[in-house]
Amino acid sequence: MHDVIVVGARCAGASTAMLLARQGYKVLMIDQTEFPSDVRLSTHLLWHAGADLLHKWGLLDAVRDSNCPPLTDLSLDLGETVLHGHPPGTQVGAAFAPKRIVLDQILLNAAVAAGVEFRQKVSFEGTLKDGARVVGIRAKNADGSNWTALARVVVGADGRTSRVARAVQSPTCNETSKEQGTHNTYSYFSGVAVKGVEFFSRSERMAYAWQTNDGQVVVGILQPGREGKVSRDDVPTHFFEQLDAMAPDLAARVRAGQREEDWITGAIPSFCRKPVGPGWALVGDAGLTMDPITAAGITVALRDAESLTQALHEGLSGQRRMDEALAGFEARRDAVSLPLHQFAQQMAQLAPPTQEVMQLFGALAGNQVETDRYFGVFAQTVSPADFFDPAHLQKLLTA
Ligand SMILES: Cc1cc2nc3c(=O)[nH]c(=O)nc-3n(C[C@H](O)[C@H](O)[C@H](O)COP(=O)(O)OP(=O)(O)OC[C@H]3O[C@@H](n4cnc5c(N)ncnc54)[C@H](O)[C@@H]3O)c2cc1C
Repeated sequence: MHDVIVVGARCAGASTAMLLARQGYKVLMIDQTEFPSDVRLSTHLLWHAGADLLHKWGLLDAVRDSNCPPLTDLSLDLGETVLHGHPPGTQVGAAFAPKRIVLDQILLNAAVAAGVEFRQKVSFEGTLKDGARVVGIRAKNADGSNWTALARVVVGADGRTSRVARAVQSPTCNETSKEQGTHNTYSYFSGVAVKGVEFFSRSERMAYAWQTNDGQVVVGILQPGREGKVSRDDVPTHFFEQLDAMAPDLAARVRAGQREEDWITGAIPSFCRKPVGPGWALVGDAGLTMDPITAAGITVALRDAESLTQALHEGLSGQRRMDEALAGFEARRDAVSLPLHQFAQQMAQLAPPTQEVMQLFGALAGNQVETDRYFGVFAQTVSPADFFDPAHLQKLLTA
């Protein structure tokens, strides 16, 4: 009998398992993958709020030691105006972009060091139930053999196609299709000079660049999913045509460097799922899959892992009834992470800027404190609900 079984061992699952084990709970974590393992669809950006959490958990030095530099400067090039800033309310004062093969392994090692029992190359097959309550899992080893395990709570941290979410029939909400989101095209380059996190925003387009491990820079373009994807052979030409049109200076810097990996292209649907029920919880993409335009998923996963751990501790220690404690996690997630999801969905439309948006950026251009707070919405140190509150926007525009 385990206190908690966690399905999925990356940023959401390994963080949750590690934090629980550090509090003395008996945790089993499984993953169908063999580690170390990379994530193909990721641009790796971990925002300031996520870096602060890694620092608090004692894991940020391992990220720094992986030859992954701090990204302190943020810029948003809007064409006629370029905003520069540093988000407020952060202890570390920087974002980082460790490749997932690095970050996920740091979290996994920390989970195992804390006492988590980890079984890899094991797939979750279904839940065990006592009436409506989940009381364990059915799992399958790589050799096809099956086994079961019992737990007081089963956590699905198994990503956006979560089988745990399907098994518990968690309802989905706030859903948009791939076509309503962004289509991403990116690769990794060496020999490209970048300053921190660089964004370029144009009508119906965005471009971005930041440094990840070992001097490699991830450079990408985003366009509306409704435009469909370009054929594989046309990707390099298309990428540089778009980058030349949006950010000729960045395009020149990229041309001066060398591409180190294949092109990666992709789009995903975004949605939210009910994250708790009797004997189960969902964390990370399993509970909330956001459009990648704001590069928020990893930071959200870390924060929600800590919030879920708090709820599980309350329930497992008997401070509150487990169902009540898990409802507390749901309320916190909906208050903090749902507005970020809605902000990303809105940005992902890549609609031409309205008059109001132009006025907002005009007002920000002369106001460094508010520009920093705007960047704080991305860094997850300023709530989008606070920043975009109509009374606050009115004050900003009037000033
Ligand atoms: C193109 C793109 C770019 C992105 N860029 C960024 C970015 O720059 N910054 C950012 O913060 N976010 C980014 N994201 C989002 C980010 O990748 C996700 O939010 C993050 O991976 C969620 O982590 P997770 O631990 O919840 O799930 P995942 O990383 O998906 O991990 C789930 C784990 O569960 C395991 N699993 C699945 N099913 C089973 C099963 N049945 N049995 C056992 N194990 C199972 C998998 O093997 C996997 O290891 C991007 C997403 C996309 C699509």
